[in-house]
Amino acid sequence: MMTTIAFIGLGNMGGGMAANLVKNGYAVRAFDLSEEALAKAEAAGATRSTGAADAVAGADAVVTMLPAGKHVEAVYTTEVFGAAKPGALFLDCSTIDVATARRVIDAAVAKGFAMVDAPVSGGIAAANGGTLTFMVGGTEEAFAKAQPILSAMGKAVIHAGGAGNGQGAKICNNMLLGATMIATCEAFAMAQKLGLDPQTFYDISSVSSGQSWSMTSYCPLPDVGPQTPADNDYQGGFAVALMLKDLKLACEAAASVNASVPMGQAAEALYQLLANKGEGGRDFSSIIKLLS
Ligand code: NAD
Repeated sequence: MMTTIAFIGLGNMGGGMAANLVKNGYAVRAFDLSEEALAKAEAAGATRSTGAADAVAGADAVVTMLPAGKHVEAVYTTEVFGAAKPGALFLDCSTIDVATARRVIDAAVAKGFAMVDAPVSGGIAAANGGTLTFMVGGTEEAFAKAQPILSAMGKAVIHAGGAGNGQGAKICNNMLLGATMIATCEAFAMAQKLGLDPQTFYDISSVSSGQSWSMTSYCPLPDVGPQTPADNDYQGGFAVALMLKDLKLACEAAASVNASVPMGQAAEALYQLLANKGEGGRDFSSIIKLLS
């Protein structure tokens, strides 16, 4: 029998993810507060629902891709728990705080459901192309059930440990990304001031010990390295506002366990400064403009 999946939150990321579930043979029951998002999901082959509870009723699994922890907690506690069929599997793919993720999963498990937190790495293009990386927190059994569904939307599905560990992996990774992007930008800006040609510095550093993904896969300068948002006036890509959201989550999580993250805090402060300058919609590599 075809597996039925309720998909709640069909925005920039969820829209493409739901379309990939349809392409992989799942019956998708879609709900979003936005009529536009719902219409797009319907056009991609999902069935329109009148509310979250309506989408969830009878579904074997529920996937959520919502903005933040408060939306996730509200949707599960007020709609999903009451409407889901016994033993249903829940997958929250949103990026949210670790504490909320653990609280919602504990509540789901207490009601007899299986649930994983499964945040993603990769942006809208990866969501549309089915090439996301999923980092998954939850029990072995919940992970085993979630794996085929996540594989229909991504290229890598990695079990990160117990509940909330997917979110933990995601924010640690993005904190590292924020810090390496800023460090890469300041090195490029300084190299130029010291009289080095940016291409020459790239050629040297990309095969030396300063190399990182921020340099070789996402070079913050136009016309250097591969095609990146820098070549398109920092449009598209991963927005400053989203990087800032992840850095705030990372710093909050660090404080909750007394982890010392001075580089992460510096990255948060610098991305906040950039967002305050009205640059929240640009790609996060545009932070080079603050440093040039
Ligand atoms: P988005 O704002 O485009 O989509 C969120 C959708 O949720 C919207 O369509 C909104 O109408 C819907 N929604 C909100 N509350 C709802 C509710 N109560 N019931 C039903 N629908 C509701 O955001 P996005 O870019 O798709 O991001 C979603 C999540 O993925 C976020 O947690 C984000 O941090 C994470 N993420 C985004 C990216 C990216 O590049 N955009 C990359 C990785 C992770």
